[in-house]
Amino acid sequence: MKVFKFGGASVKDAEGVKNVIRVLKHEGFNNTLIVISAMGKMTNAFEKVIDSYVYKNDNLNNAIEFIRDYHISIINELFSSEKNAILLEVEKLLGELSGFFITNKNSDYNFIYDQVIGFGELLATKIVGAYLNENHITTKWIDVRDFIKTDTNYRDARVNWEATKANIAKLDTTNLYLTQGFLGGACNGKTTSLGREGSDFTAAIFAYCLNAKSLTIWKDVDGVLNADPRYLENTVLLEQISYKEAIEMAFYGASVIHPKTLKPLENKNIPLYVRSFYNLNLLGTTVSKGHNLAPEIPCFIVKQEQILVSISAIDFSFMVEHNLSDIFKILHDYKLKVNLIQNSALSFSVCIEDNFGNFQSFISEITMNYKINFIENVALYTVRHATKNAIELIEQKGKVLLKQATKGTVQVIMQ
Ligand code: ADP
Ligand code: ASP
Ligand code: MG
Repeated sequence: MKVFKFGGASVKDAEGVKNVIRVLKHEGFNNTLIVISAMGKMTNAFEKVIDSYVYKNDNLNNAIEFIRDYHISIINELFSSEKNAILLEVEKLLGELSGFFITNKNSDYNFIYDQVIGFGELLATKIVGAYLNENHITTKWIDVRDFIKTDTNYRDARVNWEATKANIAKLDTTNLYLTQGFLGGACNGKTTSLGREGSDFTAAIFAYCLNAKSLTIWKDVDGVLNADPRYLENTVLLEQISYKEAIEMAFYGASVIHPKTLKPLENKNIPLYVRSFYNLNLLGTTVSKGHNLAPEIPCFIVKQEQILVSISAIDFSFMVEHNLSDIFKILHDYKLKVNLIQNSALSFSVCIEDNFGNFQSFISEITMNYKINFIENVALYTVRHATKNAIELIEQKGKVLLKQATKGTVQVIMQ
């Protein structure tokens, strides 16, 4: 079998959905499993719904209407007649969502988040499935929550590989399957999610469990480039990347591939192709065993919205092991992601990312025992295979707050 993943950018409008058919016809779609994530920026739109519900502001209905209109306008463009069945599916799902809001008694934000966020993926796969079927590409729609089983660590659920393998083994590999990215099912019957951008990981889980011959991630770019084209000009396509190099790039934050995607593929030596959704004649990028990086050029990774925090002891004492272990425990408790650390005698600096809105609570706790300074909204640049010119290019972009170099990799925090 082979696995295809189409992200939100690929199915952001009717043209995108039509293009899925072009891709399938061009590539062949026998023995294929397709993973689709929420259309366009719908996951962000659902996050607004969640906040409106949790913080009880007046925008809940508007936020849901925005989502309904978005999907209906795509349906109107895709289906000329016979759209009642799919419109009914959309209403059924949105009705389920309203039902959740009425009956829910659990106030845990992360729990609520996961019960709501997955409707984006459910709507997308229903619409794409209906459109493929209407165009005589018969897919079998499966609910990913019946296959990928996880714990109840909502918003960052961990996969139960044994249960997941056993479920996926039941699939008939001669079918063309269509399923949702990013979601899982916990054994209490509730929906979980694998973390933002997690659909790549979903696709890798299926590829692993199906012993797939390949995974292709279809993108709005030509493949993996040596930098995010939104932040740097004159990017170059990387034709081949080893798993190891790709893991390093994803680890430093190259958002083109979700970091958890690579391990399952590496473990079974399944090649990952990252290809252009528009230009089907391009080969894109292959991630596989073999050459570390071709062409061998500096690669730039940018992470925005970072916070640089400097922590020191209240009484001017050294920052030693027990302080660091203390600080790391608190960072972990507040789910703050640490992207860089630097230590000196009297202070400890960390560059962190606050994905769960916990920074203020972190400060309240840490200031009980330490002095802190912080600068918000800084950017962390990582240059792999760095050269003097490559570093200069980054340093021109603003004020350098901190710089760190290890073999071939240079990280710079810029304001
Ligand atoms: P999808 O919705 O398909 O998951 P994303 O928007 O998450 O798509 O990812 C595609 C985007 O990733 C590209 O449009 C590009 O801006 C960005 N990107 C970041 N780093 C890279 C990189 N190294 N190579 C290519 N694209 C990158
Ligand atoms: N729809 C989810 C998100 O936007 C998952 C994904 O796209 O991979 O994060
Ligand atoms: Mg994505």
